[in-house]
Amino acid sequence: MIFDSHAHYDDKRFDEDRDTLLKSFSEHGIGAVVNVCADKDSLETTPALSDAYDHFYAAVGIHPSEIADLDETVLEQIRQLAGREKTVAIGEIGLDYYWEKDPEVRKMQAFWFERQLALAKETGLPVIIHSRDAAKDTFEIMQKAAEDQIPGVIHCYSYSAEQAAEYVRMGYYIGIGGVVTFSNGRKLRETVETVPLDRILLETDAPYLAPEPHRGKRNASLFLPLVAAAISEIKGISTQEVEDATWQNACRLFGVTQ
Ligand SMILES: [Zn+2]
Repeated sequence: MIFDSHAHYDDKRFDEDRDTLLKSFSEHGIGAVVNVCADKDSLETTPALSDAYDHFYAAVGIHPSEIADLDETVLEQIRQLAGREKTVAIGEIGLDYYWEKDPEVRKMQAFWFERQLALAKETGLPVIIHSRDAAKDTFEIMQKAAEDQIPGVIHCYSYSAEQAAEYVRMGYYIGIGGVVTFSNGRKLRETVETVPLDRILLETDAPYLAPEPHRGKRNASLFLPLVAAAISEIKGISTQEVEDATWQNACRLFGVTQ
């Protein structure tokens, strides 16, 4: 079975066929999915998906590019949602300097990142980290998180293999998705080569980042065998080993027993 550790099935790109698609997952070997909140609206739609589908779980939090949504009331809403049975993580949270160039807003991203990390510590949930073009600042904040023993995954990992090794030493998982199949994904393939199999999670980030040969199309968990195949080729092991190990890794991190 395949565990998709990161998807956004509440995205409007799934409005037309969401129910049919999600119900088809188990017959295609997709055994579990974490649907991840990004903005304020998804704090409603994500828990609703985890209620509606057996093998769906929820991550609750606000994405760094959506922090204009955040205030104390919304943070309290996240705290309440964190207590629900099918909530398995706080996320996605972090820093995005690719889309945000204003230093003042970047400071606010760091502020809300740290507030949501504190919430993870308080609730005992792991974190799902989004970090783009912000390697140094993210790493500094995550060093503090590691000292606080907050577990988690660096989702859609895009930095160096050396830094991935640091994160692994600190106890973090590395999220690998469609980029590993891209012709310009060489850096990520180097990372996959060096990260131990027991620290890798499979993820789609659906509807984004569909693997080759579907690059540019709407992504879905049904394409994850292509990502597992790319990892198995890099590591010289079977696709089944990749699926089994990443399934166990996700169950361990998110406290899911199946
Ligand atoms: Zn995402």
